[in-house]
Amino acid sequence: MTDWRRVPEVATPHLVGVTLSVAYALASLSCLLVLAGQHASTSRGVLAAVAGTGVVAGAGVALLRHRVGRPAVHALVALSIGLAALVSVVADDASGALLLASLHTVVAVAATIFFPLATAAGYLSASMALSTTALLLRGDVTVAETVAADLLLVAVAVMVRLVVDRASSASVDALTGLPNRRGLDDLLDRELRAADRSGEALAVAMLDLDGFKRVNATGGNDAGDAALREVAASWRAALPARSALTRFGGDQFAVLLPGGDEEELVRVLQPLVTDTRRPASAGVVRARLDETPAELLRRADAAVHRAKRAGRGRCVVGADGGGETLSGSALLASALSLALDRGQVKVHYQPLYAYDASGTPVLCGLEALARWVHAVQGPISPAEFVAAAEEHGLVHRLGSAVLERTCRELASSPAAVASGVVVGVNVSGLELVRPGYAEGVAQVLRRTGWPAGRLVLEVTESVVEADAEVAVAALHAVRAQGVGVAVDDFGTGYSCLSRLDDVPANYLKLDRSFTATAHTSPRRALLVAAVVQLSRAMGLGVVAEGVETAEQAEALRALGCDLFQGYHLARPEPLAALAARLESTPAATTPGSRTPGAAHVPGQRRDDVPASSR
Ligand code: C2E
Ligand code: CA
Ligand code: CA
Repeated sequence: MTDWRRVPEVATPHLVGVTLSVAYALASLSCLLVLAGQHASTSRGVLAAVAGTGVVAGAGVALLRHRVGRPAVHALVALSIGLAALVSVVADDASGALLLASLHTVVAVAATIFFPLATAAGYLSASMALSTTALLLRGDVTVAETVAADLLLVAVAVMVRLVVDRASSASVDALTGLPNRRGLDDLLDRELRAADRSGEALAVAMLDLDGFKRVNATGGNDAGDAALREVAASWRAALPARSALTRFGGDQFAVLLPGGDEEELVRVLQPLVTDTRRPASAGVVRARLDETPAELLRRADAAVHRAKRAGRGRCVVGADGGGETLSGSALLASALSLALDRGQVKVHYQPLYAYDASGTPVLCGLEALARWVHAVQGPISPAEFVAAAEEHGLVHRLGSAVLERTCRELASSPAAVASGVVVGVNVSGLELVRPGYAEGVAQVLRRTGWPAGRLVLEVTESVVEADAEVAVAALHAVRAQGVGVAVDDFGTGYSCLSRLDDVPANYLKLDRSFTATAHTSPRRALLVAAVVQLSRAMGLGVVAEGVETAEQAEALRALGCDLFQGYHLARPEPLAALAARLESTPAATTPGSRTPGAAHVPGQRRDDVPASSR
């Protein structure tokens, strides 16, 4: 909805400056062109003076466009209305007068871009009144021609306003009317550049409401929305006029204070965050030279997290220039730690298929893949945050969160339970060597009710290569509970099949890099076929990972792979999105029994298979 009192979001000082200077320059040029056809010395003199004024004003605005304040913009628009009326009065003839009166249209465009609707309408009316009066005063322009000029003006103004409002709403949060995430990005980008140029300070704060989840949980979404609107309005009223308040998303807000430092911003925010009715945590930072908006927000976000950890209802100032001691990966790990506390690490599931005798893919399994969307950086690749978690001692928390969530989600999905699918969960080698790992897995299975026989832990080849006795012992312990083990990413390291003998595995997952060229390179096909045969002999089911095309799937099928996973078949998705596919999966068949042509049942090593079935 249009707010009559709101300056259009697109009317940034930069855009206003550029538009004004271009308008003045072009209007001056048209005055000069009309001047060429004038004979009377009065009209020539006035037109030359007006063109000169226009050039000076346009050049001035172009030079000072970052400093042109609102009063100056009003003055320039008002001046242009007066000048346009003046030139249309003095023009020698009706055609010149009408042409010059059309300069009012330029003013109309400027006013509709720059001002709130009410103000813009005021300028439009003034412009129309003056141009009408000027034209009628001359006596040689008909009323019809005057009205036509006015209609043109109104038409252009309405069209421009519609476009401006549409463009502005993309940056405005519908609930609070504050600039949204996109608006914040634009604002920050501009203010950072302005701060770099002027050398003035720019302080930025990220605010996060404390206990907002409770408001939503107890009062419902309507109560949550009302609270957000109320906070936005009261904060907006309390903040200095030169600051900008934006809604970052959810219950997070960001404040920009151009020309202010972190101390000043903390002073301003202190009463807001300690308000007992609606307490919040704030992270305040001061922009550094050459910092990007994303880097700045990341620092502010890290400071909010510290404020939350320090006990809420407070402001924490982020380390400034050079004082930051945390490395990127440590920052990521600390944010991940908080996300784990809040249950924000989600799981997506990528289906694994076998082909039945008729060549139809049948859903047999799922791989659980951790998903984390960071508040500032957006989705972060698991490769990145798993590495940070490993580096900073968090990987066991990540692993158990993913395992617990996976088993809980699947056990509470009737479709998943009935489908008979087996789920693979990735496990880091560092988790395996922690004392009590296997017992932890057993507890998760007991708590969630997901059957041990339908869980496969995926460990990478590097764990196997590391020859870690403790890790291998942990794998034996989970196998004893009936949980399966897969050797993941086979073919990425210095793969050595003989090592597999030490690992109690049921599946071998061939890495994409290993299988990608199996359909184009005969030598690679031979290699894959050999690995498949050897795996068979060892009682391992073979999974081809990263199958991206039908040709790859076809070739890998021909080479004897049992199961297939990859974008060609399905992408990782939240469990809810897979419900339909799970429901149409015939129950009571185990993936092993579906595996075509497999002499073994994956899940059992050859030496576990009863002699009668060999
Ligand atoms: P991964 O275990 O090899 O998982 C398969 C990865 O390949 C996934 O990437 C999946 O999205 C991607 N993928 C699947 N099909 C295709 C395809 O056709 N083409 C290509 N190019 N990629 C495909 P994602 O989800 O980014 O995970 C990356 C890695 O992060 C995983 O590799 C796994 O090693 C690790 N990871 C993910 N979740 C967890 C977790 O909960 N714990 C641990 N320790 N590691 C995890
Ligand atoms: Ca995996
Ligand atoms: Ca893999």
